[in-house]
Amino acid sequence: MTALQIVRLPALSDNYVWLVHDPVSAETIVVDPAQAAPVLDALATRGWALTAIWNTHWHPDHTGGNAELKADTGCTVIAPAAEAAKIPTADRLVGEGDVVAIGGHRAVVLEVPAHTAGHIAYHFADDAIVFVGDTLFAMGCGRLFEGTAEQMFANMQRLAALPDATLVYCAHEYTLSNGRYALVAEPENAAIRHRMADVERLRAEGEATVPTTIAAERATNPFLRAADARMLAERRAAKDSFAG
Ligand code: ZN
Ligand code: FE
Repeated sequence: MTALQIVRLPALSDNYVWLVHDPVSAETIVVDPAQAAPVLDALATRGWALTAIWNTHWHPDHTGGNAELKADTGCTVIAPAAEAAKIPTADRLVGEGDVVAIGGHRAVVLEVPAHTAGHIAYHFADDAIVFVGDTLFAMGCGRLFEGTAEQMFANMQRLAALPDATLVYCAHEYTLSNGRYALVAEPENAAIRHRMADVERLRAEGEATVPTTIAAERATNPFLRAADARMLAERRAAKDSFAG
């Protein structure tokens, strides 16, 4: 199977919008368009036509481009069923186990509630790719706005069980801040120190630190590595007030 082409589009202050193109079918989707303009520019540059928007959750920094992109391109909007009322642009509502596709590349919907009550992820098992929105970040996890530490712990366990090489596409560049907290949460963890050296160099050069991989997160992510929901809750609360 010919590989999907994935383009990272920076948006707002620290969002990443992911443009995904299948050269075989010529279909193009965009995951979590914070804004329309960078997506329309990237489509024009490459001569791609937008087929669909895939949203992971309702937050405006993930859906803000929906209406304009839909009006401009006639694309279909796929969104979590549990957040239908908050994503009025949605055309197709999906939940756990539903299959969505770009050409011959199939993704299964995983329900990962906690950051928002209906948050979903899109897992392309055959491509070893997962789009996680604001659930899992490089060395971090999403804030618990509409769910519990127990739910987020279950999400972390579930994502940790994906194959090592799975590429994790998250929706924000939070790695430097997350890593500073990770060093405090696990001061004995040499893998975090090594990773932070790379992250600090990349950020100093203005480079992105994502996508990450499940293997890297298993080694360095204090939320994915939390032993139980209580530990995740403690770490999440500590990170919420972490100034470093
Ligand atoms: Zn969010
Ligand atoms: Fe966000």
